[in-house]
Amino acid sequence: MSIAENLREIEEKLTCAAQKSGRKRSDILLLAVSKTIDVPHIKQAVELGCRELGENRVQEILEKYDQIPGVEWHLIGHLQTNKVKYIVDKVKLIHSVDSLKLGEEISKRCEKADRTMDILVEVNMAGEESKSGVAPEDAKALCRELSKLDRLCIKGLMTVAPYDPIPENNRVYFKKMKRLFDEIKAEDLPNTDMQHLSMGMTNDYEVAVEEGADIVRIGTGIFGARDYSK
Ligand SMILES: *Cc1c(COP(=O)(O)O)cnc(C)c1O
Repeated sequence: MSIAENLREIEEKLTCAAQKSGRKRSDILLLAVSKTIDVPHIKQAVELGCRELGENRVQEILEKYDQIPGVEWHLIGHLQTNKVKYIVDKVKLIHSVDSLKLGEEISKRCEKADRTMDILVEVNMAGEESKSGVAPEDAKALCRELSKLDRLCIKGLMTVAPYDPIPENNRVYFKKMKRLFDEIKAEDLPNTDMQHLSMGMTNDYEVAVEEGADIVRIGTGIFGARDYSK
């Protein structure tokens, strides 16, 4: 399957899932996850309309940044505090803030760069040991602390659901995320503008959108299987 065909299929499914949740396709951002993908293939996707790209490693954003102009970058993977300084002037949204320490470092670097940074708080909904993200029961407390940092704007929540061959099994996590999102939104915290629920990947994005996701992060579904050998 070509990238164009893959994108057509995703567009149809997104349209359908958006309708099921009372929304339109245009209410959902398709974030193309370009990790491990080479520049020519990413450019194909960009030409087909993918103008926002997600990477999970700082180094990979830095390598691709100048080669792919006219796009916006999202950092979606675990971020080490010592790497924040390299991307603070390059990314539109950091999806993976899961500690106050990381929030403070982003805030400090933003102060120097004289900007503010939009962030999502990453929640480990299923409590998987291998995954980063704050525990669901600690998410509100973390948001309250992060909301004291003037250089950050909390834009919502992000989760990476478990891989499950039956995507329907993740519906419970997406529902809980939406509830948590609504509760935090209702707190009306400073430096907070709860707009985005980043959840759903190739395997489960339709279920995620049905439950309220407005950003889906899709890699394999667009570019095909990743090759980590290179
Ligand atoms: C790799 C990755 C994705 C995309 O995964 P696919 O299953 O290839 O769609 C989404 N989110 C994060 C955080 C990732 O690291």
